Amino acid sequence: MLVQQILKAKGDGKVVTVKPGTKVSEVAQTLAERRIGGLVVSNDGETVDGIISERDIVRSMALRGANCLTETIDEMMTRNPVCCTRQDKSDAILARMTDGRFRHMPVVEDGKLVGIVTIGDVVKARLEELAMEKDALEGMIAGY
Ligand code: AMP
Repeated sequence: MLVQQILKAKGDGKVVTVKPGTKVSEVAQTLAERRIGGLVVSNDGETVDGIISERDIVRSMALRGANCLTETIDEMMTRNPVCCTRQDKSDAILARMTDGRFRHMPVVEDGKLVGIVTIGDVVKARLEELAMEKDALEGMIAGY
């Protein structure tokens, strides 16, 4: 399965981004309101400058205390995150996310952000694929 099929199944919603310089408290609020775990950091909504995850915020709070909520995300975000394209295979990006221990991957085409896939999206798509394969095999065995 290709990344583009996963994006299509998710619906072609615009990726939520946040600008560099945004306060950590604002990002935490957006993550909570939208019920997501990470945001692409982008100045223009197209170029991927970084990614900020709930884990980055929790780590900073553990290290430096709740004061970090009033700081900007700039020091906290991961710069140059690993990205994929619509043509990448889901198995390959699942392996990349598992090896790298991260759950979000921006999808980029010609240097522009076109989507985001999470490990949850990939696992869901894979489970659906396996269920269809199982039904097809059972059908073949049963002879219809
Ligand atoms: P996550 O599991 O995606 O919530 O993020 C775990 C850690 O990996 C955090 O420090 C993120 O900033 C970082 N991270 C998230 N996505 C990526 C990515 N695509 N490439 C590199 N690092 C990432």
